[in-house]
Amino acid sequence: MNIVFIASECHPFAKTGGLADVVGSLPIALKKLGHNPIVIIPKYQNIDVNKYNLIKHQDLLGVWMGNKLEWCSVWKSSLPENVDVFFIEFDAYFNREGFYCDNHMNDYLDNPQRFCFFTRAALQFCIDNKINVDIFSFHDWQTAPGTCYQKTWHWNNEYIGKAASVLTIHNIGYQGKYSTYGYDYLGLGWENFHNQAFEDFGGINLLKGGIFFADMVNTVSPTYAKETLTELGSHGLHTYLANKGDRYIGILNGVDYEHWDPEIDTYIPQNYNIKTIEKKSINKRVLQEQFLLEINDNIPVIGIVSRFAHQKGLQLLFGTIERIVNDMIVQFAILGSGDKGLESYFGYLPAKYQGKIGSYIGYNERLAHLIEAGSDFFLMPSIYEPCGLNQIYSLRYGTLPIVRATGGLDDTVIQYDETTGNGTGFKFYAIDPNAVYYTVGWAVSTYYDRKHHYKQMQKLAIEQDFSWEKSAKEYIKLYERTIKSKNL
Ligand code: ADP
Repeated sequence: MNIVFIASECHPFAKTGGLADVVGSLPIALKKLGHNPIVIIPKYQNIDVNKYNLIKHQDLLGVWMGNKLEWCSVWKSSLPENVDVFFIEFDAYFNREGFYCDNHMNDYLDNPQRFCFFTRAALQFCIDNKINVDIFSFHDWQTAPGTCYQKTWHWNNEYIGKAASVLTIHNIGYQGKYSTYGYDYLGLGWENFHNQAFEDFGGINLLKGGIFFADMVNTVSPTYAKETLTELGSHGLHTYLANKGDRYIGILNGVDYEHWDPEIDTYIPQNYNIKTIEKKSINKRVLQEQFLLEINDNIPVIGIVSRFAHQKGLQLLFGTIERIVNDMIVQFAILGSGDKGLESYFGYLPAKYQGKIGSYIGYNERLAHLIEAGSDFFLMPSIYEPCGLNQIYSLRYGTLPIVRATGGLDDTVIQYDETTGNGTGFKFYAIDPNAVYYTVGWAVSTYYDRKHHYKQMQKLAIEQDFSWEKSAKEYIKLYERTIKSKNL
């Protein structure tokens, strides 16, 4: 199958979150299974042309928007397994400091123009390059309108007209809601500006329209698929998803064990595996040093690596984290950025709780790996979590997750059973600071008082397999079903 990924992020070129990890990994797994995927993303200002060997592929690509012809260029690089990655260069839209917002977290108001343009350019690229597409894989609100363009502008095109579209929702909390300013330019058509498609309380909702036109919609875990069929879990889109019937399913993300396996991880000071798990403590020592924690192998370290966004539930730690370090002998190593209130709170805690809480405010891939490798537990108190990758990485690093049982967190972590020692982590259900407090207490007491259970859990955690190969096979089944149902 010729599968074209059109997305706003792809690891390692451009990443703000899990979407990038999926777009940077799934195509590689599909290629290994004998398919022919390519990836198309925008050429953002901070993509390092030299580091990733980007070369100019096409000087001029003409893109008709609703009321204007734009000209852009295309660059090329690749992922492992020779998966081609193409970059749409259009400085007016992408030569900016951030992907979706400026450095002060202000959303770019022309985001609909930017990403609709990008999506139209990607489709035009396939036509210009005579790619016979079987599947278009669109991702989140940024490229969701592609499902509409393909059906309205290109339904009869010899190269892309027959392709089936799969829209993958990585996070339904972000829907691409904007005013109708500049709607003509988007080329979505006023005939599609109605309640079932792009109209939403008088404004535009790009994800909603994308869902309407997609041949198939999926999200990134089975439990999140169920949660998004409820009003609260779907942020209002549940009825539109329900309308898709069996054309809406959940497929759990895989993870890229080539980047996230302590046996071969090049970021961490000491590699280890299930047989040499005792060497993990060398990473713990370095972690304690770098986060200015008391160096003591016997004190459990709880790691956090996260965007500081409401979704991640870190506001539940306001005050609670202080109760925890006051009442329990435990340390925290925190890495993240985003919400300014949380940044200043987590930034100030190390001064108040010296040696007990360490933090780094910012984005740092090496430290993310060090936290996974050096911590004893990993905390994710998410309000909702479509899939979540960090808890899956944690399992492979023998770093037991403490999570709220939602979405992919519920699907991937096995609850600790105190009678048998079975399980891979600690789950709580209530969105409540006390639930965090007591579950951390449960984990810490297991560490101190039931060490044999802790070790048994570590072993089971490391053995868990969430490789992309498994998920990629499910995607192939989904693609085949989509093509079949489109041709009925
Ligand atoms: P989301 O996509 O909602 O942010 P996921 O758990 O699915 O959450 O994926 C987060 C990814 O981003 C992981 O690979 C994680 O390591 C990475 N990440 C998040 N914040 C940071 C940070 N401050 N520094 C380095 N990596 C980070």
